[in-house]
Amino acid sequence: MERIYLDNNATTRLAPEVLEAMLPFLTDEFGNPSSLHALGRGPARALSAARRAVQELVGAEVESEILFTSGGTEADTTAIRSALAADPARREIVASTVEHAAVLALCEQLERHEGVTVHRIPVDGDGRLDIDAYRAALSPRVALVTLMWANNETGTVFPVEGLAELAHREGALFHTDAVQAAGKVPVALRGTDIDMLSISAHKFHGPKGVGALWLRKGVPFQPLIRGGKQERGRRAGTENIPGIVGLGRAAELAQSVDHGGMRLLRDRLEQGILARIPKVRVLGDPLDRLPNTSCLAFELAEGEAILMLLDRAGICVSSGAACASGAMEPSHVIRAMKVPFTAAHGAIRFSLSRGTTAAEIDRVLEALPPIVAQLRALSPFTAEEVR
Ligand code: PLP
Repeated sequence: MERIYLDNNATTRLAPEVLEAMLPFLTDEFGNPSSLHALGRGPARALSAARRAVQELVGAEVESEILFTSGGTEADTTAIRSALAADPARREIVASTVEHAAVLALCEQLERHEGVTVHRIPVDGDGRLDIDAYRAALSPRVALVTLMWANNETGTVFPVEGLAELAHREGALFHTDAVQAAGKVPVALRGTDIDMLSISAHKFHGPKGVGALWLRKGVPFQPLIRGGKQERGRRAGTENIPGIVGLGRAAELAQSVDHGGMRLLRDRLEQGILARIPKVRVLGDPLDRLPNTSCLAFELAEGEAILMLLDRAGICVSSGAACASGAMEPSHVIRAMKVPFTAAHGAIRFSLSRGTTAAEIDRVLEALPPIVAQLRALSPFTAEEVR
């Protein structure tokens, strides 16, 4: 069975061009980029070419502002821990209630065991940040604000440029987790107040286990991992050259993506579902949302059950965040948005890629209505309620 993959916010397929670029560095070009002999030179050149490609993708001023990491989680952790270490007099952090676990779990650790105060800013029913609560949390005690560029579950985009400006007024650093934004919406850092930004290659058709932290020139920094002098002493350990080369090639390819086409297909899916199935809510900001993401809550149906029946029909989606799958509780994002109980349990995330076709969308539109109807027929509520 030909599978339809609509779970691209969880991870994406490696682009063939990316694999091709990586292969030499898994075979003949195996040298260490720090070596001075001939076999070190190719990897060293590839390392700086990849750095330039990432610089272009995020619109960074200089290439040395990019430091490679093992992915989004490490980039987030590095940014947060660095900001706290760089200014020990400031012991507060501001984040939102809908950040990824990469940020929230670290915040919890810092709060419980390391004496840091964490302000968790709530969101409204559409996943938009409560700006008044944000302003109230800012003070000269705040070392860092960390707010995601786009949410992995709903695709809601935060106005990070304005939020960064407000943080700077109180002298706080501003980090953004752009893991879901990079490659899907333009990420132009030049001229903004953003100080640090995280990306991860596997979210835009690069390999897993590699990402980058952009660190604005002049921003105080403390390394998370100490050891050798790689990455100008900011991230020790022999570089993952095949991965970094893959990240660089994926960054180049991401620059020419037709986001408009992806948005049209996403809207065809969303409008098609709303027209065919009653009692469905669109979760997320109706205006400012990633062009590939549609998070829908089906009243009186269990998200996990929809996911499994779609899987049986060869369609891969996610119920809430991938890491929340398997748990019966609605995800922390859906709970933070205060989605009513009857719908919160029926949330499904469809996330498209640049490879998604109209024929695939139409197959989902055919398969989904009978699945939802079948599950609602089993619901203890009367059929009247979902007409
Ligand atoms: N931040 C966000 C918003 C994500 O969606 C993810 C991945 O799901 C991460 C961070 C973690 O990235 P990685 O899997 O590269 O560690």
